[in-house]
Amino acid sequence: MRRPMVAGNWKMNGTRSDAGSLLDGVVGGLDASLTCEVVVCPPSILIPVVAEKLAGTSVSWGGQNLDTHDGGAYTGEISGGMLKDFGSTYVIVGHSERRSIYGESDDLVAEKFQQAQKTGLIPILCVGELLEERERGQTESVVGRQLDAVLAVVGIAGLKDTVIAYEPVWAIGTGKTASADQAQEVHKFIRTKLADKDANIANGLRILYGGSVKPDNAAELFANEDVDGGLIGGASLKAQDFLGICNATKNQDLG
Ligand code: PEP
Repeated sequence: MRRPMVAGNWKMNGTRSDAGSLLDGVVGGLDASLTCEVVVCPPSILIPVVAEKLAGTSVSWGGQNLDTHDGGAYTGEISGGMLKDFGSTYVIVGHSERRSIYGESDDLVAEKFQQAQKTGLIPILCVGELLEERERGQTESVVGRQLDAVLAVVGIAGLKDTVIAYEPVWAIGTGKTASADQAQEVHKFIRTKLADKDANIANGLRILYGGSVKPDNAAELFANEDVDGGLIGGASLKAQDFLGICNATKNQDLG
């Protein structure tokens, strides 16, 4: 049985005071009966504030990116060890904005995935196709290629207990959501592809959907067999919306 998960990606948003009031709203409004794991991924400079605020609560936190090195002359970067030092549990790897704006290749993403695990963090690996790739019928080949790059570095054993987020790039921040069927189709493809290598690992893996998830579309998306929760951008910046999405994991049909 997979535990549902809702992770908020704050992207490059928020001051210390915004983070404080957002988290007051989230922690104060969380339904104690929820089985869903709740995670927030703030900009790294806010992690100390978030760590202090969330210590002793059920909400965990993580980074949005990490460098492939342990430390040293890498100006502007942040290491997995630094994220871990401030109590992070997770780190997002290969978000489409990192891939498209900062030119992160599949191979670099795979190295980051490996580095996250080396530093004791759980990677949330983002995969997903561009609109033109979907229109050309290349969704599975693109997502398959992104997964293969990670498999080539860590092997199937390296995916054990990690998290994958399927985020069709055309749905991120656009207000366009994949339909529940479109999401399930790709999630199933991911799980089946990995199950061919190790069924136990694939069955235990949480596959989140991301791309314009809102409180009013979350329940339908999460009701799919292979959709284990969501990676939430814009709606994670409003406590009520984020809580609404967390609540939508109730009655989820998890394998
Ligand atoms: C994201 O940034 O990962 C994301 C899914 O954004 P949004 O929910 O705003 O589409």
